[in-house]
Amino acid sequence: MCRSILTRRQCLGAGAVAALAASYSTRAKADESSASVEPFPTTAEEVLTRLRDGNQRFISGQARHPHAELAWRRDLEQTQKPFATVLSCSDSRVPPELLFDQGFGDLFVIRVAGHVIDPSTLGSLQYALVHLQTPLFLVLGHERCGAVTAAVQALLGEHQEPAKIQALVDLVEPGLEKMDLHGERDAVVRQAVAANVRWTMRQLTDLVQDSTQLAGAVYELDRGEVEMLT
Ligand SMILES: [Zn+2]
Repeated sequence: MCRSILTRRQCLGAGAVAALAASYSTRAKADESSASVEPFPTTAEEVLTRLRDGNQRFISGQARHPHAELAWRRDLEQTQKPFATVLSCSDSRVPPELLFDQGFGDLFVIRVAGHVIDPSTLGSLQYALVHLQTPLFLVLGHERCGAVTAAVQALLGEHQEPAKIQALVDLVEPGLEKMDLHGERDAVVRQAVAANVRWTMRQLTDLVQDSTQLAGAVYELDRGEVEMLT
């Protein structure tokens, strides 16, 4: 990451940005079977389409694993130009680049258990907002999230985690306080996962500006599908 407080173009350098943009075109000509033929998405709608298409390839077993080739990575040595910022859980079953079938330099990803909001999360997101200016911020929860399950158990008085873990779980709990947690446990956790995504989104409304669209989604472990929340 560029660490200085500069505008995005100053940070990346106009030449580096132009070179990276040109590399899309070059790779497209070099390998028309690659995802590089896809134009760089510049609007939130285009980004969502790109992510949905990649997720469909992943679901159908036709992932391209794009943007991993040596030449592409060399284009990224001096700069980055991701088109989406993703805040997701650390769960090992939910790697955003794989489930959206994207590659190096495509996604700016912040991962923390339960995608909780704390100062380091906010700092990373503000970096993406100010310096990377990705048109989409996506909060990505997932089925059977351990952090959310722990928050449900804590709110029901069933279980307390060790102090450091509980401090994280405490950050999930406010988003679940209006829920009835006494139903069938799998169904409750499923609803709580979506509630936690919405809780994270609510905490970001003051940070995200008009130029960036904030969206939420839940990854279904069984089907491999990312479902957008409406
Ligand atoms: Zn999780």
